[in-house]
Amino acid sequence: MSLAVQNCSRGSKARQVVVLGAGVVGLTIALELARNDYRVLVLARDLPFDADSQAFASPWAGAIWCPTAARDDNGGRESRWEERAFLKLRPLIAQGIALELKGTRRFGPNEASLLGHWYKDFAPNYTHLPPSACPPGAVGVSFDTLSINAPRYIQWLAGELDKLGVIFERRRVTDITEVAHLAGRPDLVVNATGLGAKSIVGIEDQACEPVRGQTVLVSSDTKRCTMDFHDSEHPTYMIPRPGNEVVCGGTYGHGDWDTSFRPELAKDILTRCLAIDPSISSDGTLAGIRILRHNVGLRPSRKGGARLELEKRLEGPPIIHAYGFGMAGFQQSWGVAEDVLTLVEQAMSANLSTAPHIKL
Ligand code: FAD
Repeated sequence: MSLAVQNCSRGSKARQVVVLGAGVVGLTIALELARNDYRVLVLARDLPFDADSQAFASPWAGAIWCPTAARDDNGGRESRWEERAFLKLRPLIAQGIALELKGTRRFGPNEASLLGHWYKDFAPNYTHLPPSACPPGAVGVSFDTLSINAPRYIQWLAGELDKLGVIFERRRVTDITEVAHLAGRPDLVVNATGLGAKSIVGIEDQACEPVRGQTVLVSSDTKRCTMDFHDSEHPTYMIPRPGNEVVCGGTYGHGDWDTSFRPELAKDILTRCLAIDPSISSDGTLAGIRILRHNVGLRPSRKGGARLELEKRLEGPPIIHAYGFGMAGFQQSWGVAEDVLTLVEQAMSANLSTAPHIKL
């Protein structure tokens, strides 16, 4: 398929940007750019309506706002992304796209230092849990947070992009120079390919690795939201999301590419979740849980942290890399998109030959 970038939008905007990747990160970046008058084309192998595709991460996320980074991690960029995303996602509660929740987190006794969370002064109603609300020796906090229905949310993002005239094209890219040489030549390319960055020729980032996550989606109107990591061997979470559904998890299989369902893990997850909240079952037993589906997704992680970087190439347009967000792509998405907009503006105005790389 030959693509003419000049036709990538129905609008008359001047600068042309190709966003490669249509997961939550690529879509949010595309929306931020389109809202700022860039002409955007989204190219991706998996598109937002491919809700059953395990080839990308976004449909399978929890997706709760629950920061894991410390304030100063990676120069403080992650906590900044999370703050920005929270502020952008919160208004979606009123539209029913996000669900307001009281979240609780529990940790083992050796993780008491985590009670110094950076967001203790940011998340509304952040408080320490009393010992009676925690397993023996564990510590915990509660705070107001939110979740989103991941597959519906990425489709909503696609709808917002459509309203702005952004075109989507299904395309599997094997070599990054394919994008640079599209007819019409884009001014800039954003690489938001998640795990795809590991194998696209010209990127081949071997620091990318999957973190396998298996979950069980159950039907329940419970609003009890728990992230229980006090037993590090058996992390357990329950994330209610819009639509009276609860994502029960979970697993963190580093380097595990296997997307097949493991029944023994599902039983283990449900047993632990049932112990936390028996109301998810009609009769208090595993058999009384209404399972909607079993899910497996691969979090697009990257050793050393996400890559957010403007790269000038010897040939072709500059590329902004935005991938490797691991378990936090939703809760960081809007902060990342704002930083990408800043990089795009720098790329469009700077003399890149003197400053070939800008990392954030
Ligand atoms: P992806 O969603 O993987 O999208 C990558 C895009 O690039 C796709 O469109 C793909 O088709 C495209 N692509 C890749 N290679 C190519 C190629 N060669 N050519 C063309 N296109 C290509 N995050 C949170 O913030 N909160 C949570 O509670 C949370 N819970 C999670 C629970 C589970 C079980 C899982 C699996 C993930 C969870 N995540 C959570 C993580 C979140 O899902 C990811 O961080 C996020 O989806 C990453 O988005 P992305 O756009 O970077 O990548």
